[in-house]
Amino acid sequence: MSSMKIQTIIKCCSKKFIRNFSLHRLPEEHSMLQKTCRDFVEAELKPFAAKLDKEHIFPKDQIKKLGELGLLSINVSEKWGGAGQDSLAMAVAVEEIARGCGGTATIVSVHNCLFVNLIDRCGTDDQKEKFLRPFTSGTLGCFALSEPGAGSDVGAISTTAVLDGDSYVLNGTKSWVTSGTEGKAAIIFATIDKKLKHKGITGFIVPMTTEGLSCGKKEDKLGIRASSTCNLILEDVRVPKENILGKPGEGFKMAMIQLDKARVGIAAQALGIAQSALDTAVDYSFQRKAFGQPINNLQAVKLRLGEMALKLESARLLVWRAAVLCDEPQRSTKESSMAKVAASEAATFVSHSAIQILGGMGYVADMPAERHYRDARITEIYAGVNDVQRQLIADAILKENH
Ligand SMILES: Cc1cc2nc3c(=O)[nH]c(=O)nc-3n(C[C@H](O)[C@H](O)[C@H](O)COP(=O)(O)OP(=O)(O)OC[C@H]3O[C@@H](n4cnc5c(N)ncnc54)[C@H](O)[C@@H]3O)c2cc1C
Repeated sequence: MSSMKIQTIIKCCSKKFIRNFSLHRLPEEHSMLQKTCRDFVEAELKPFAAKLDKEHIFPKDQIKKLGELGLLSINVSEKWGGAGQDSLAMAVAVEEIARGCGGTATIVSVHNCLFVNLIDRCGTDDQKEKFLRPFTSGTLGCFALSEPGAGSDVGAISTTAVLDGDSYVLNGTKSWVTSGTEGKAAIIFATIDKKLKHKGITGFIVPMTTEGLSCGKKEDKLGIRASSTCNLILEDVRVPKENILGKPGEGFKMAMIQLDKARVGIAAQALGIAQSALDTAVDYSFQRKAFGQPINNLQAVKLRLGEMALKLESARLLVWRAAVLCDEPQRSTKESSMAKVAASEAATFVSHSAIQILGGMGYVADMPAERHYRDARITEIYAGVNDVQRQLIADAILKENH
């Protein structure tokens, strides 16, 4: 498969196909993208995923190739070197990548949804020249919102930004930064006035080489181990005013709007992990014999497979719907939150059930089932814990019915 081929396909996934989108099958061009990503994953990712996970290796070669294929700038305008595609294309690509390696899907999803697409949406032309165009084909960016004392409660962030001449001086610690070790720039959220709470939060684009900015230790995680996660420590980090993303005090709103999109990316990752777990269980159920027959003749196994497929496919419909809606001008928080909850909980359920179907072989690293189980778990936590997503869904339906 050539890089030209996949770029041509993603360039064809244009809005006119979305208009024909009927939720029971993908538009033709998105199906072609899906097949092409699947071929890439079978050849370049699946064979290496167990090693990347076991040894906590960053997938350097695969990220380089994904960049060459245009999959690190899926929904970035063509004007700035991106593929100019929709969020359904992003979701399809992330799902396929997650089928091969959950950790690689984290890197791709965070970079696309929380770095390049955010700069494309909110940056100035000057910022796009410096921090978007060079990040469309393999150089990674990060998103640093969370802090040790502020995860779900974003308004409580305490990293400060103090104006000094033409620059802001940033101090504090950001936590859980995906690709913090490999990324070349980060969108860092800090408060210009803590008394203003949410209304003081401001986004800054900061090159990782800036004096005073350093990475903490790499976290030793349960799953998605091919992706790195670390703290960012800011000690008198001087950032020019022109690196503010959006306007001062508008960082909270900007981040929340972007997280609607990012939740579709994480939901798509969950689908890919779940699909891979189901595939593993189905294959094994044909091979494994018990009481003189393949175990998939046993009713208990059949019922389990049926429930797994049902949860996965219903979640996929919610993810595709949320992907289409998050490109519309109006907010689609409810739909993104529903997709994220349904897909992440399907991934946890399906990967748990797959281990049961594999019996003892589900519990050892010779088979991928235990990795799927570990990789699935994060999707219920990051980009907003599921408890908070349920509250957002409830808020939306109460507002609709008020
Ligand atoms: C591997 C990994 C990668 C990450 N990558 C990034 C990244 O790149 N950038 C970034 O900014 N962040 C990142 N995060 C942070 C992630 O988004 C947060 O962990 C998440 O938002 C939850 O915040 P918390 O861990 O502080 O949990 P808390 O907010 O402390 O929540 C703990 C628990 O309290 C309960 N809870 C809290 N608030 C509520 C509420 N309002 N209603 C109901 N229940 C509630 C829930 O049960 C929740 O699970 C990452 C995290 C991990 C683990």
